[in-house]
Amino acid sequence: MIRVGVLGAAGRMGRTVCRAVAGDPDLSLVAAINPSFAGHAIAELIGPTELDLTVSDDLDVLPSAAAEVGVDFTTPDAVMGNVRRLLELGIHAVVGTTGIGPKDLSELELLARGGRANVVVASNFAIGAVLMQRFAAEAARFFPAAEIVELHHEGKLDAPSGTARATAERMAKARATDRTAPSSETIEGARGADVSGIRVHAVRLPGLVAHQEVVFGGAGETLTIRHDSLDRQSFMPGVLFAIKAVAERPGLTVGLEPILGLDPQ
Ligand code: NAP
Repeated sequence: MIRVGVLGAAGRMGRTVCRAVAGDPDLSLVAAINPSFAGHAIAELIGPTELDLTVSDDLDVLPSAAAEVGVDFTTPDAVMGNVRRLLELGIHAVVGTTGIGPKDLSELELLARGGRANVVVASNFAIGAVLMQRFAAEAARFFPAAEIVELHHEGKLDAPSGTARATAERMAKARATDRTAPSSETIEGARGADVSGIRVHAVRLPGLVAHQEVVFGGAGETLTIRHDSLDRQSFMPGVLFAIKAVAERPGLTVGLEPILGLDPQ
């Protein structure tokens, strides 16, 4: 049994992760951390359960709960402080919170290198989204032009999404030649944001969860690659994979692909 603590347990993702961990026979949910929900019973977050667990306000509860892995789905402001503390405590970290930039990743690599605890950071735990990005990078080798439309729930703080940025960067790297998309617009913003020469359009609407379409254009044909996370459940297989793998992956692992056994592109 791997003993798991969830940070951001009362959030939209945190609740889903708590439920998934509690329901996995190989994992044990031993701590739930969310300051504004401290003192509440876990059942208030995940529904009826036999677990006798109270939400805590501080991650220092993790050593006394003998947690081996901490899963962070909090906020861009909180995440780095949380992961630094997890590593100090010698607890492996699985990080889904977005907003971790290249500088943060370099810091995490240094902190985790040769240490007692490892880190997995993935900006998208949905297996279909991981494959969508790989397929898009593959198609970018053959099509001269492409644009990305990403669509998310209106509570999403960042735009464009981390997944859209990562997809555009991978596509730009895979392209045979550089290309600048047409940028002429009569109203500012109509052509979206330029990410590595690829136009990215961000849609925010109630009812949506997380969706992305990569549209390629070539001579007389288009190709559309689309992924839809219809429910936060879509992220859970990837999160559970990462929790089970993190102890065996020394240092920092970025993205789900190495954990799924996919070769680097
Ligand atoms: P959310 O509903 O706003 O949940 C965030 C939770 O974190 C809130 O309950 C918040 O509590 C809590 N929190 C804030 N600071 C904390 C701290 N220091 N310690 C413990 N808990 C803290 O957001 P969400 O929709 O669940 O998303 C969370 C993050 O995951 C976002 O960055 C989102 O972009 C990302 N995400 C990643 C994936 C992926 O596959 N990697 C998928 C979906 C979402 P209060 O409300 O009381 O402040």
